[in-house]
Amino acid sequence: MMATLDSFESVPRILRLNVAGHPVDWASWQEAVCLYARDLVAWTLGDAVLSLRGGHSRIDGTQTVVNIHSIIACGGRRVPQGRSAPALTNAALFGRDHFLCLYCGRVFQPGALTRDHVVPKSRGGKDEWENVVAACKRCNHHKGNRLPHECGMELLALPYVPNTAEYLALTNSGRILGDQMDFLASQFGRGRRERESLLQ
Ligand SMILES: [Zn+2]
Repeated sequence: MMATLDSFESVPRILRLNVAGHPVDWASWQEAVCLYARDLVAWTLGDAVLSLRGGHSRIDGTQTVVNIHSIIACGGRRVPQGRSAPALTNAALFGRDHFLCLYCGRVFQPGALTRDHVVPKSRGGKDEWENVVAACKRCNHHKGNRLPHECGMELLALPYVPNTAEYLALTNSGRILGDQMDFLASQFGRGRRERESLLQ
């Protein structure tokens, strides 16, 4: 998928890695161009998604061309070492749980899902990844202010904090290129595989 100059709107986001190959963030094509221009792109993976033509050389008249690849590994900028937990949003949470209700195991539309606090907030449960799951309205209502075992309910999979690769996939879903998804999926953790097995 190579974009032309009149279709910049359709240029997908670029997956940025650090030089060690760990995913860092999504970059717009403009940000990617800056990284290329500052010579900070150490290596690339995937297909070229955009080809930009620069100025003509005064010496031989040739035109410079920069191919922006779908995955770029960059040095030069300090990458945070201590990984902070990714932002907890309902969209990312429901994606983490594959739009399953983790109590009844059925798949729902996002609008029919809720954020359930496994240990209810009223009983000291925190609003954080390890204490929340996607639950349908019916199961959430039935559970109410109780712990799962107090009402005969059982979690089908344990809540967890998505790693960076998974979080990047969750926050750009629907717009990820095949090569980007393959790269991210190779770094997904066990929690993701547990949920995938529930879908089969
Ligand atoms: Zn349910």
